[in-house]
Amino acid sequence: MNWISNYVRPTINSIFSRREVPENLWTKCDECGTMLFHRELADNLNVCPSCSHHMHITPRARFKAMFDGGVFAEVTVPEPLPDPLQFRDQKKYTDRIKDARRTTSEKEAMLVVEGEMGRTPVVAAAQDFSFMAGSMGMYVGNAIIAAAERAVELGRPLILFSAAGGARMQEGILSLMQMPRTTVAVEMLKEAGLPYIVVLTHPTTGGVTASYAMLGDIQIAEPGALICFAGPRVIEQTIREKLPEGFQRAEYLLDHGMLDRVTPRGQLTDELVRILRMLMGLPPAVAGDLPAPETAKAPPVPDAPAAEAATDSAPPKSTPAPKAK
Ligand SMILES: [Zn+2]
Repeated sequence: MNWISNYVRPTINSIFSRREVPENLWTKCDECGTMLFHRELADNLNVCPSCSHHMHITPRARFKAMFDGGVFAEVTVPEPLPDPLQFRDQKKYTDRIKDARRTTSEKEAMLVVEGEMGRTPVVAAAQDFSFMAGSMGMYVGNAIIAAAERAVELGRPLILFSAAGGARMQEGILSLMQMPRTTVAVEMLKEAGLPYIVVLTHPTTGGVTASYAMLGDIQIAEPGALICFAGPRVIEQTIREKLPEGFQRAEYLLDHGMLDRVTPRGQLTDELVRILRMLMGLPPAVAGDLPAPETAKAPPVPDAPAAEAATDSAPPKSTPAPKAK
């Protein structure tokens, strides 16, 4: 009943318990209900090991798995005007941004990077659904333009991973303006003769589907991804009819000619490398772990046919060859 037991002890306990028990050690699969340990899930790229349901993955985690050695460099995106309309619904728009930054530790809803995958240099951009539903605002528009400009500057292909609830309503007409802006950015790549590949992830909806997410030279989707302009519920209410099973899902769209491929997340990197090398006219990628560049150069020196050829013409030359070994 004194201040030590009422105030000091709970405060100390809360400090220690916060450190000892990290949150979210277990995640429940939305599809089959299996409880999955966080490390096991992360190792499997957030794909459920028992039913292969594709859960949300952050751009950073995706890029870490995708690029050679997990190495990539961020491309800087010009900052747009913050909250130009001074928008407020239940919360101020600036507060919503602050909350999203705190929970995701990301600046905005899109991450643009450059790096090599399977020794193929690329520029990649990915939308973060956990940041205000990945909504397309001015920053996302700037990010896509920065990605396209960087790709043209370096002469590299651009891969874009889309995931969005649509345009960012808090920016009103300015968010809708990103549709033509990003379309122009994609056009820049086409004029430069560089491939633009879109990977549609769950969910890709609204203005994003109506612009850059549907303009790829190759359209790939992750299994089970919802891809639509208006959602199934809205359509059902409008036309007052029951929609077919799996309507607007990746597999349905593939069957109806809207997509080129539906590829599981685990196979995506290899597939992208294969497609990009084909489109860029590069030799096929080497499968498996590649040796470091230094050791790759070494083998031609002690090569048997080369040493034999040397002995035929001049005998003394055969002596340096074994030394090289
Ligand atoms: Zn599952």
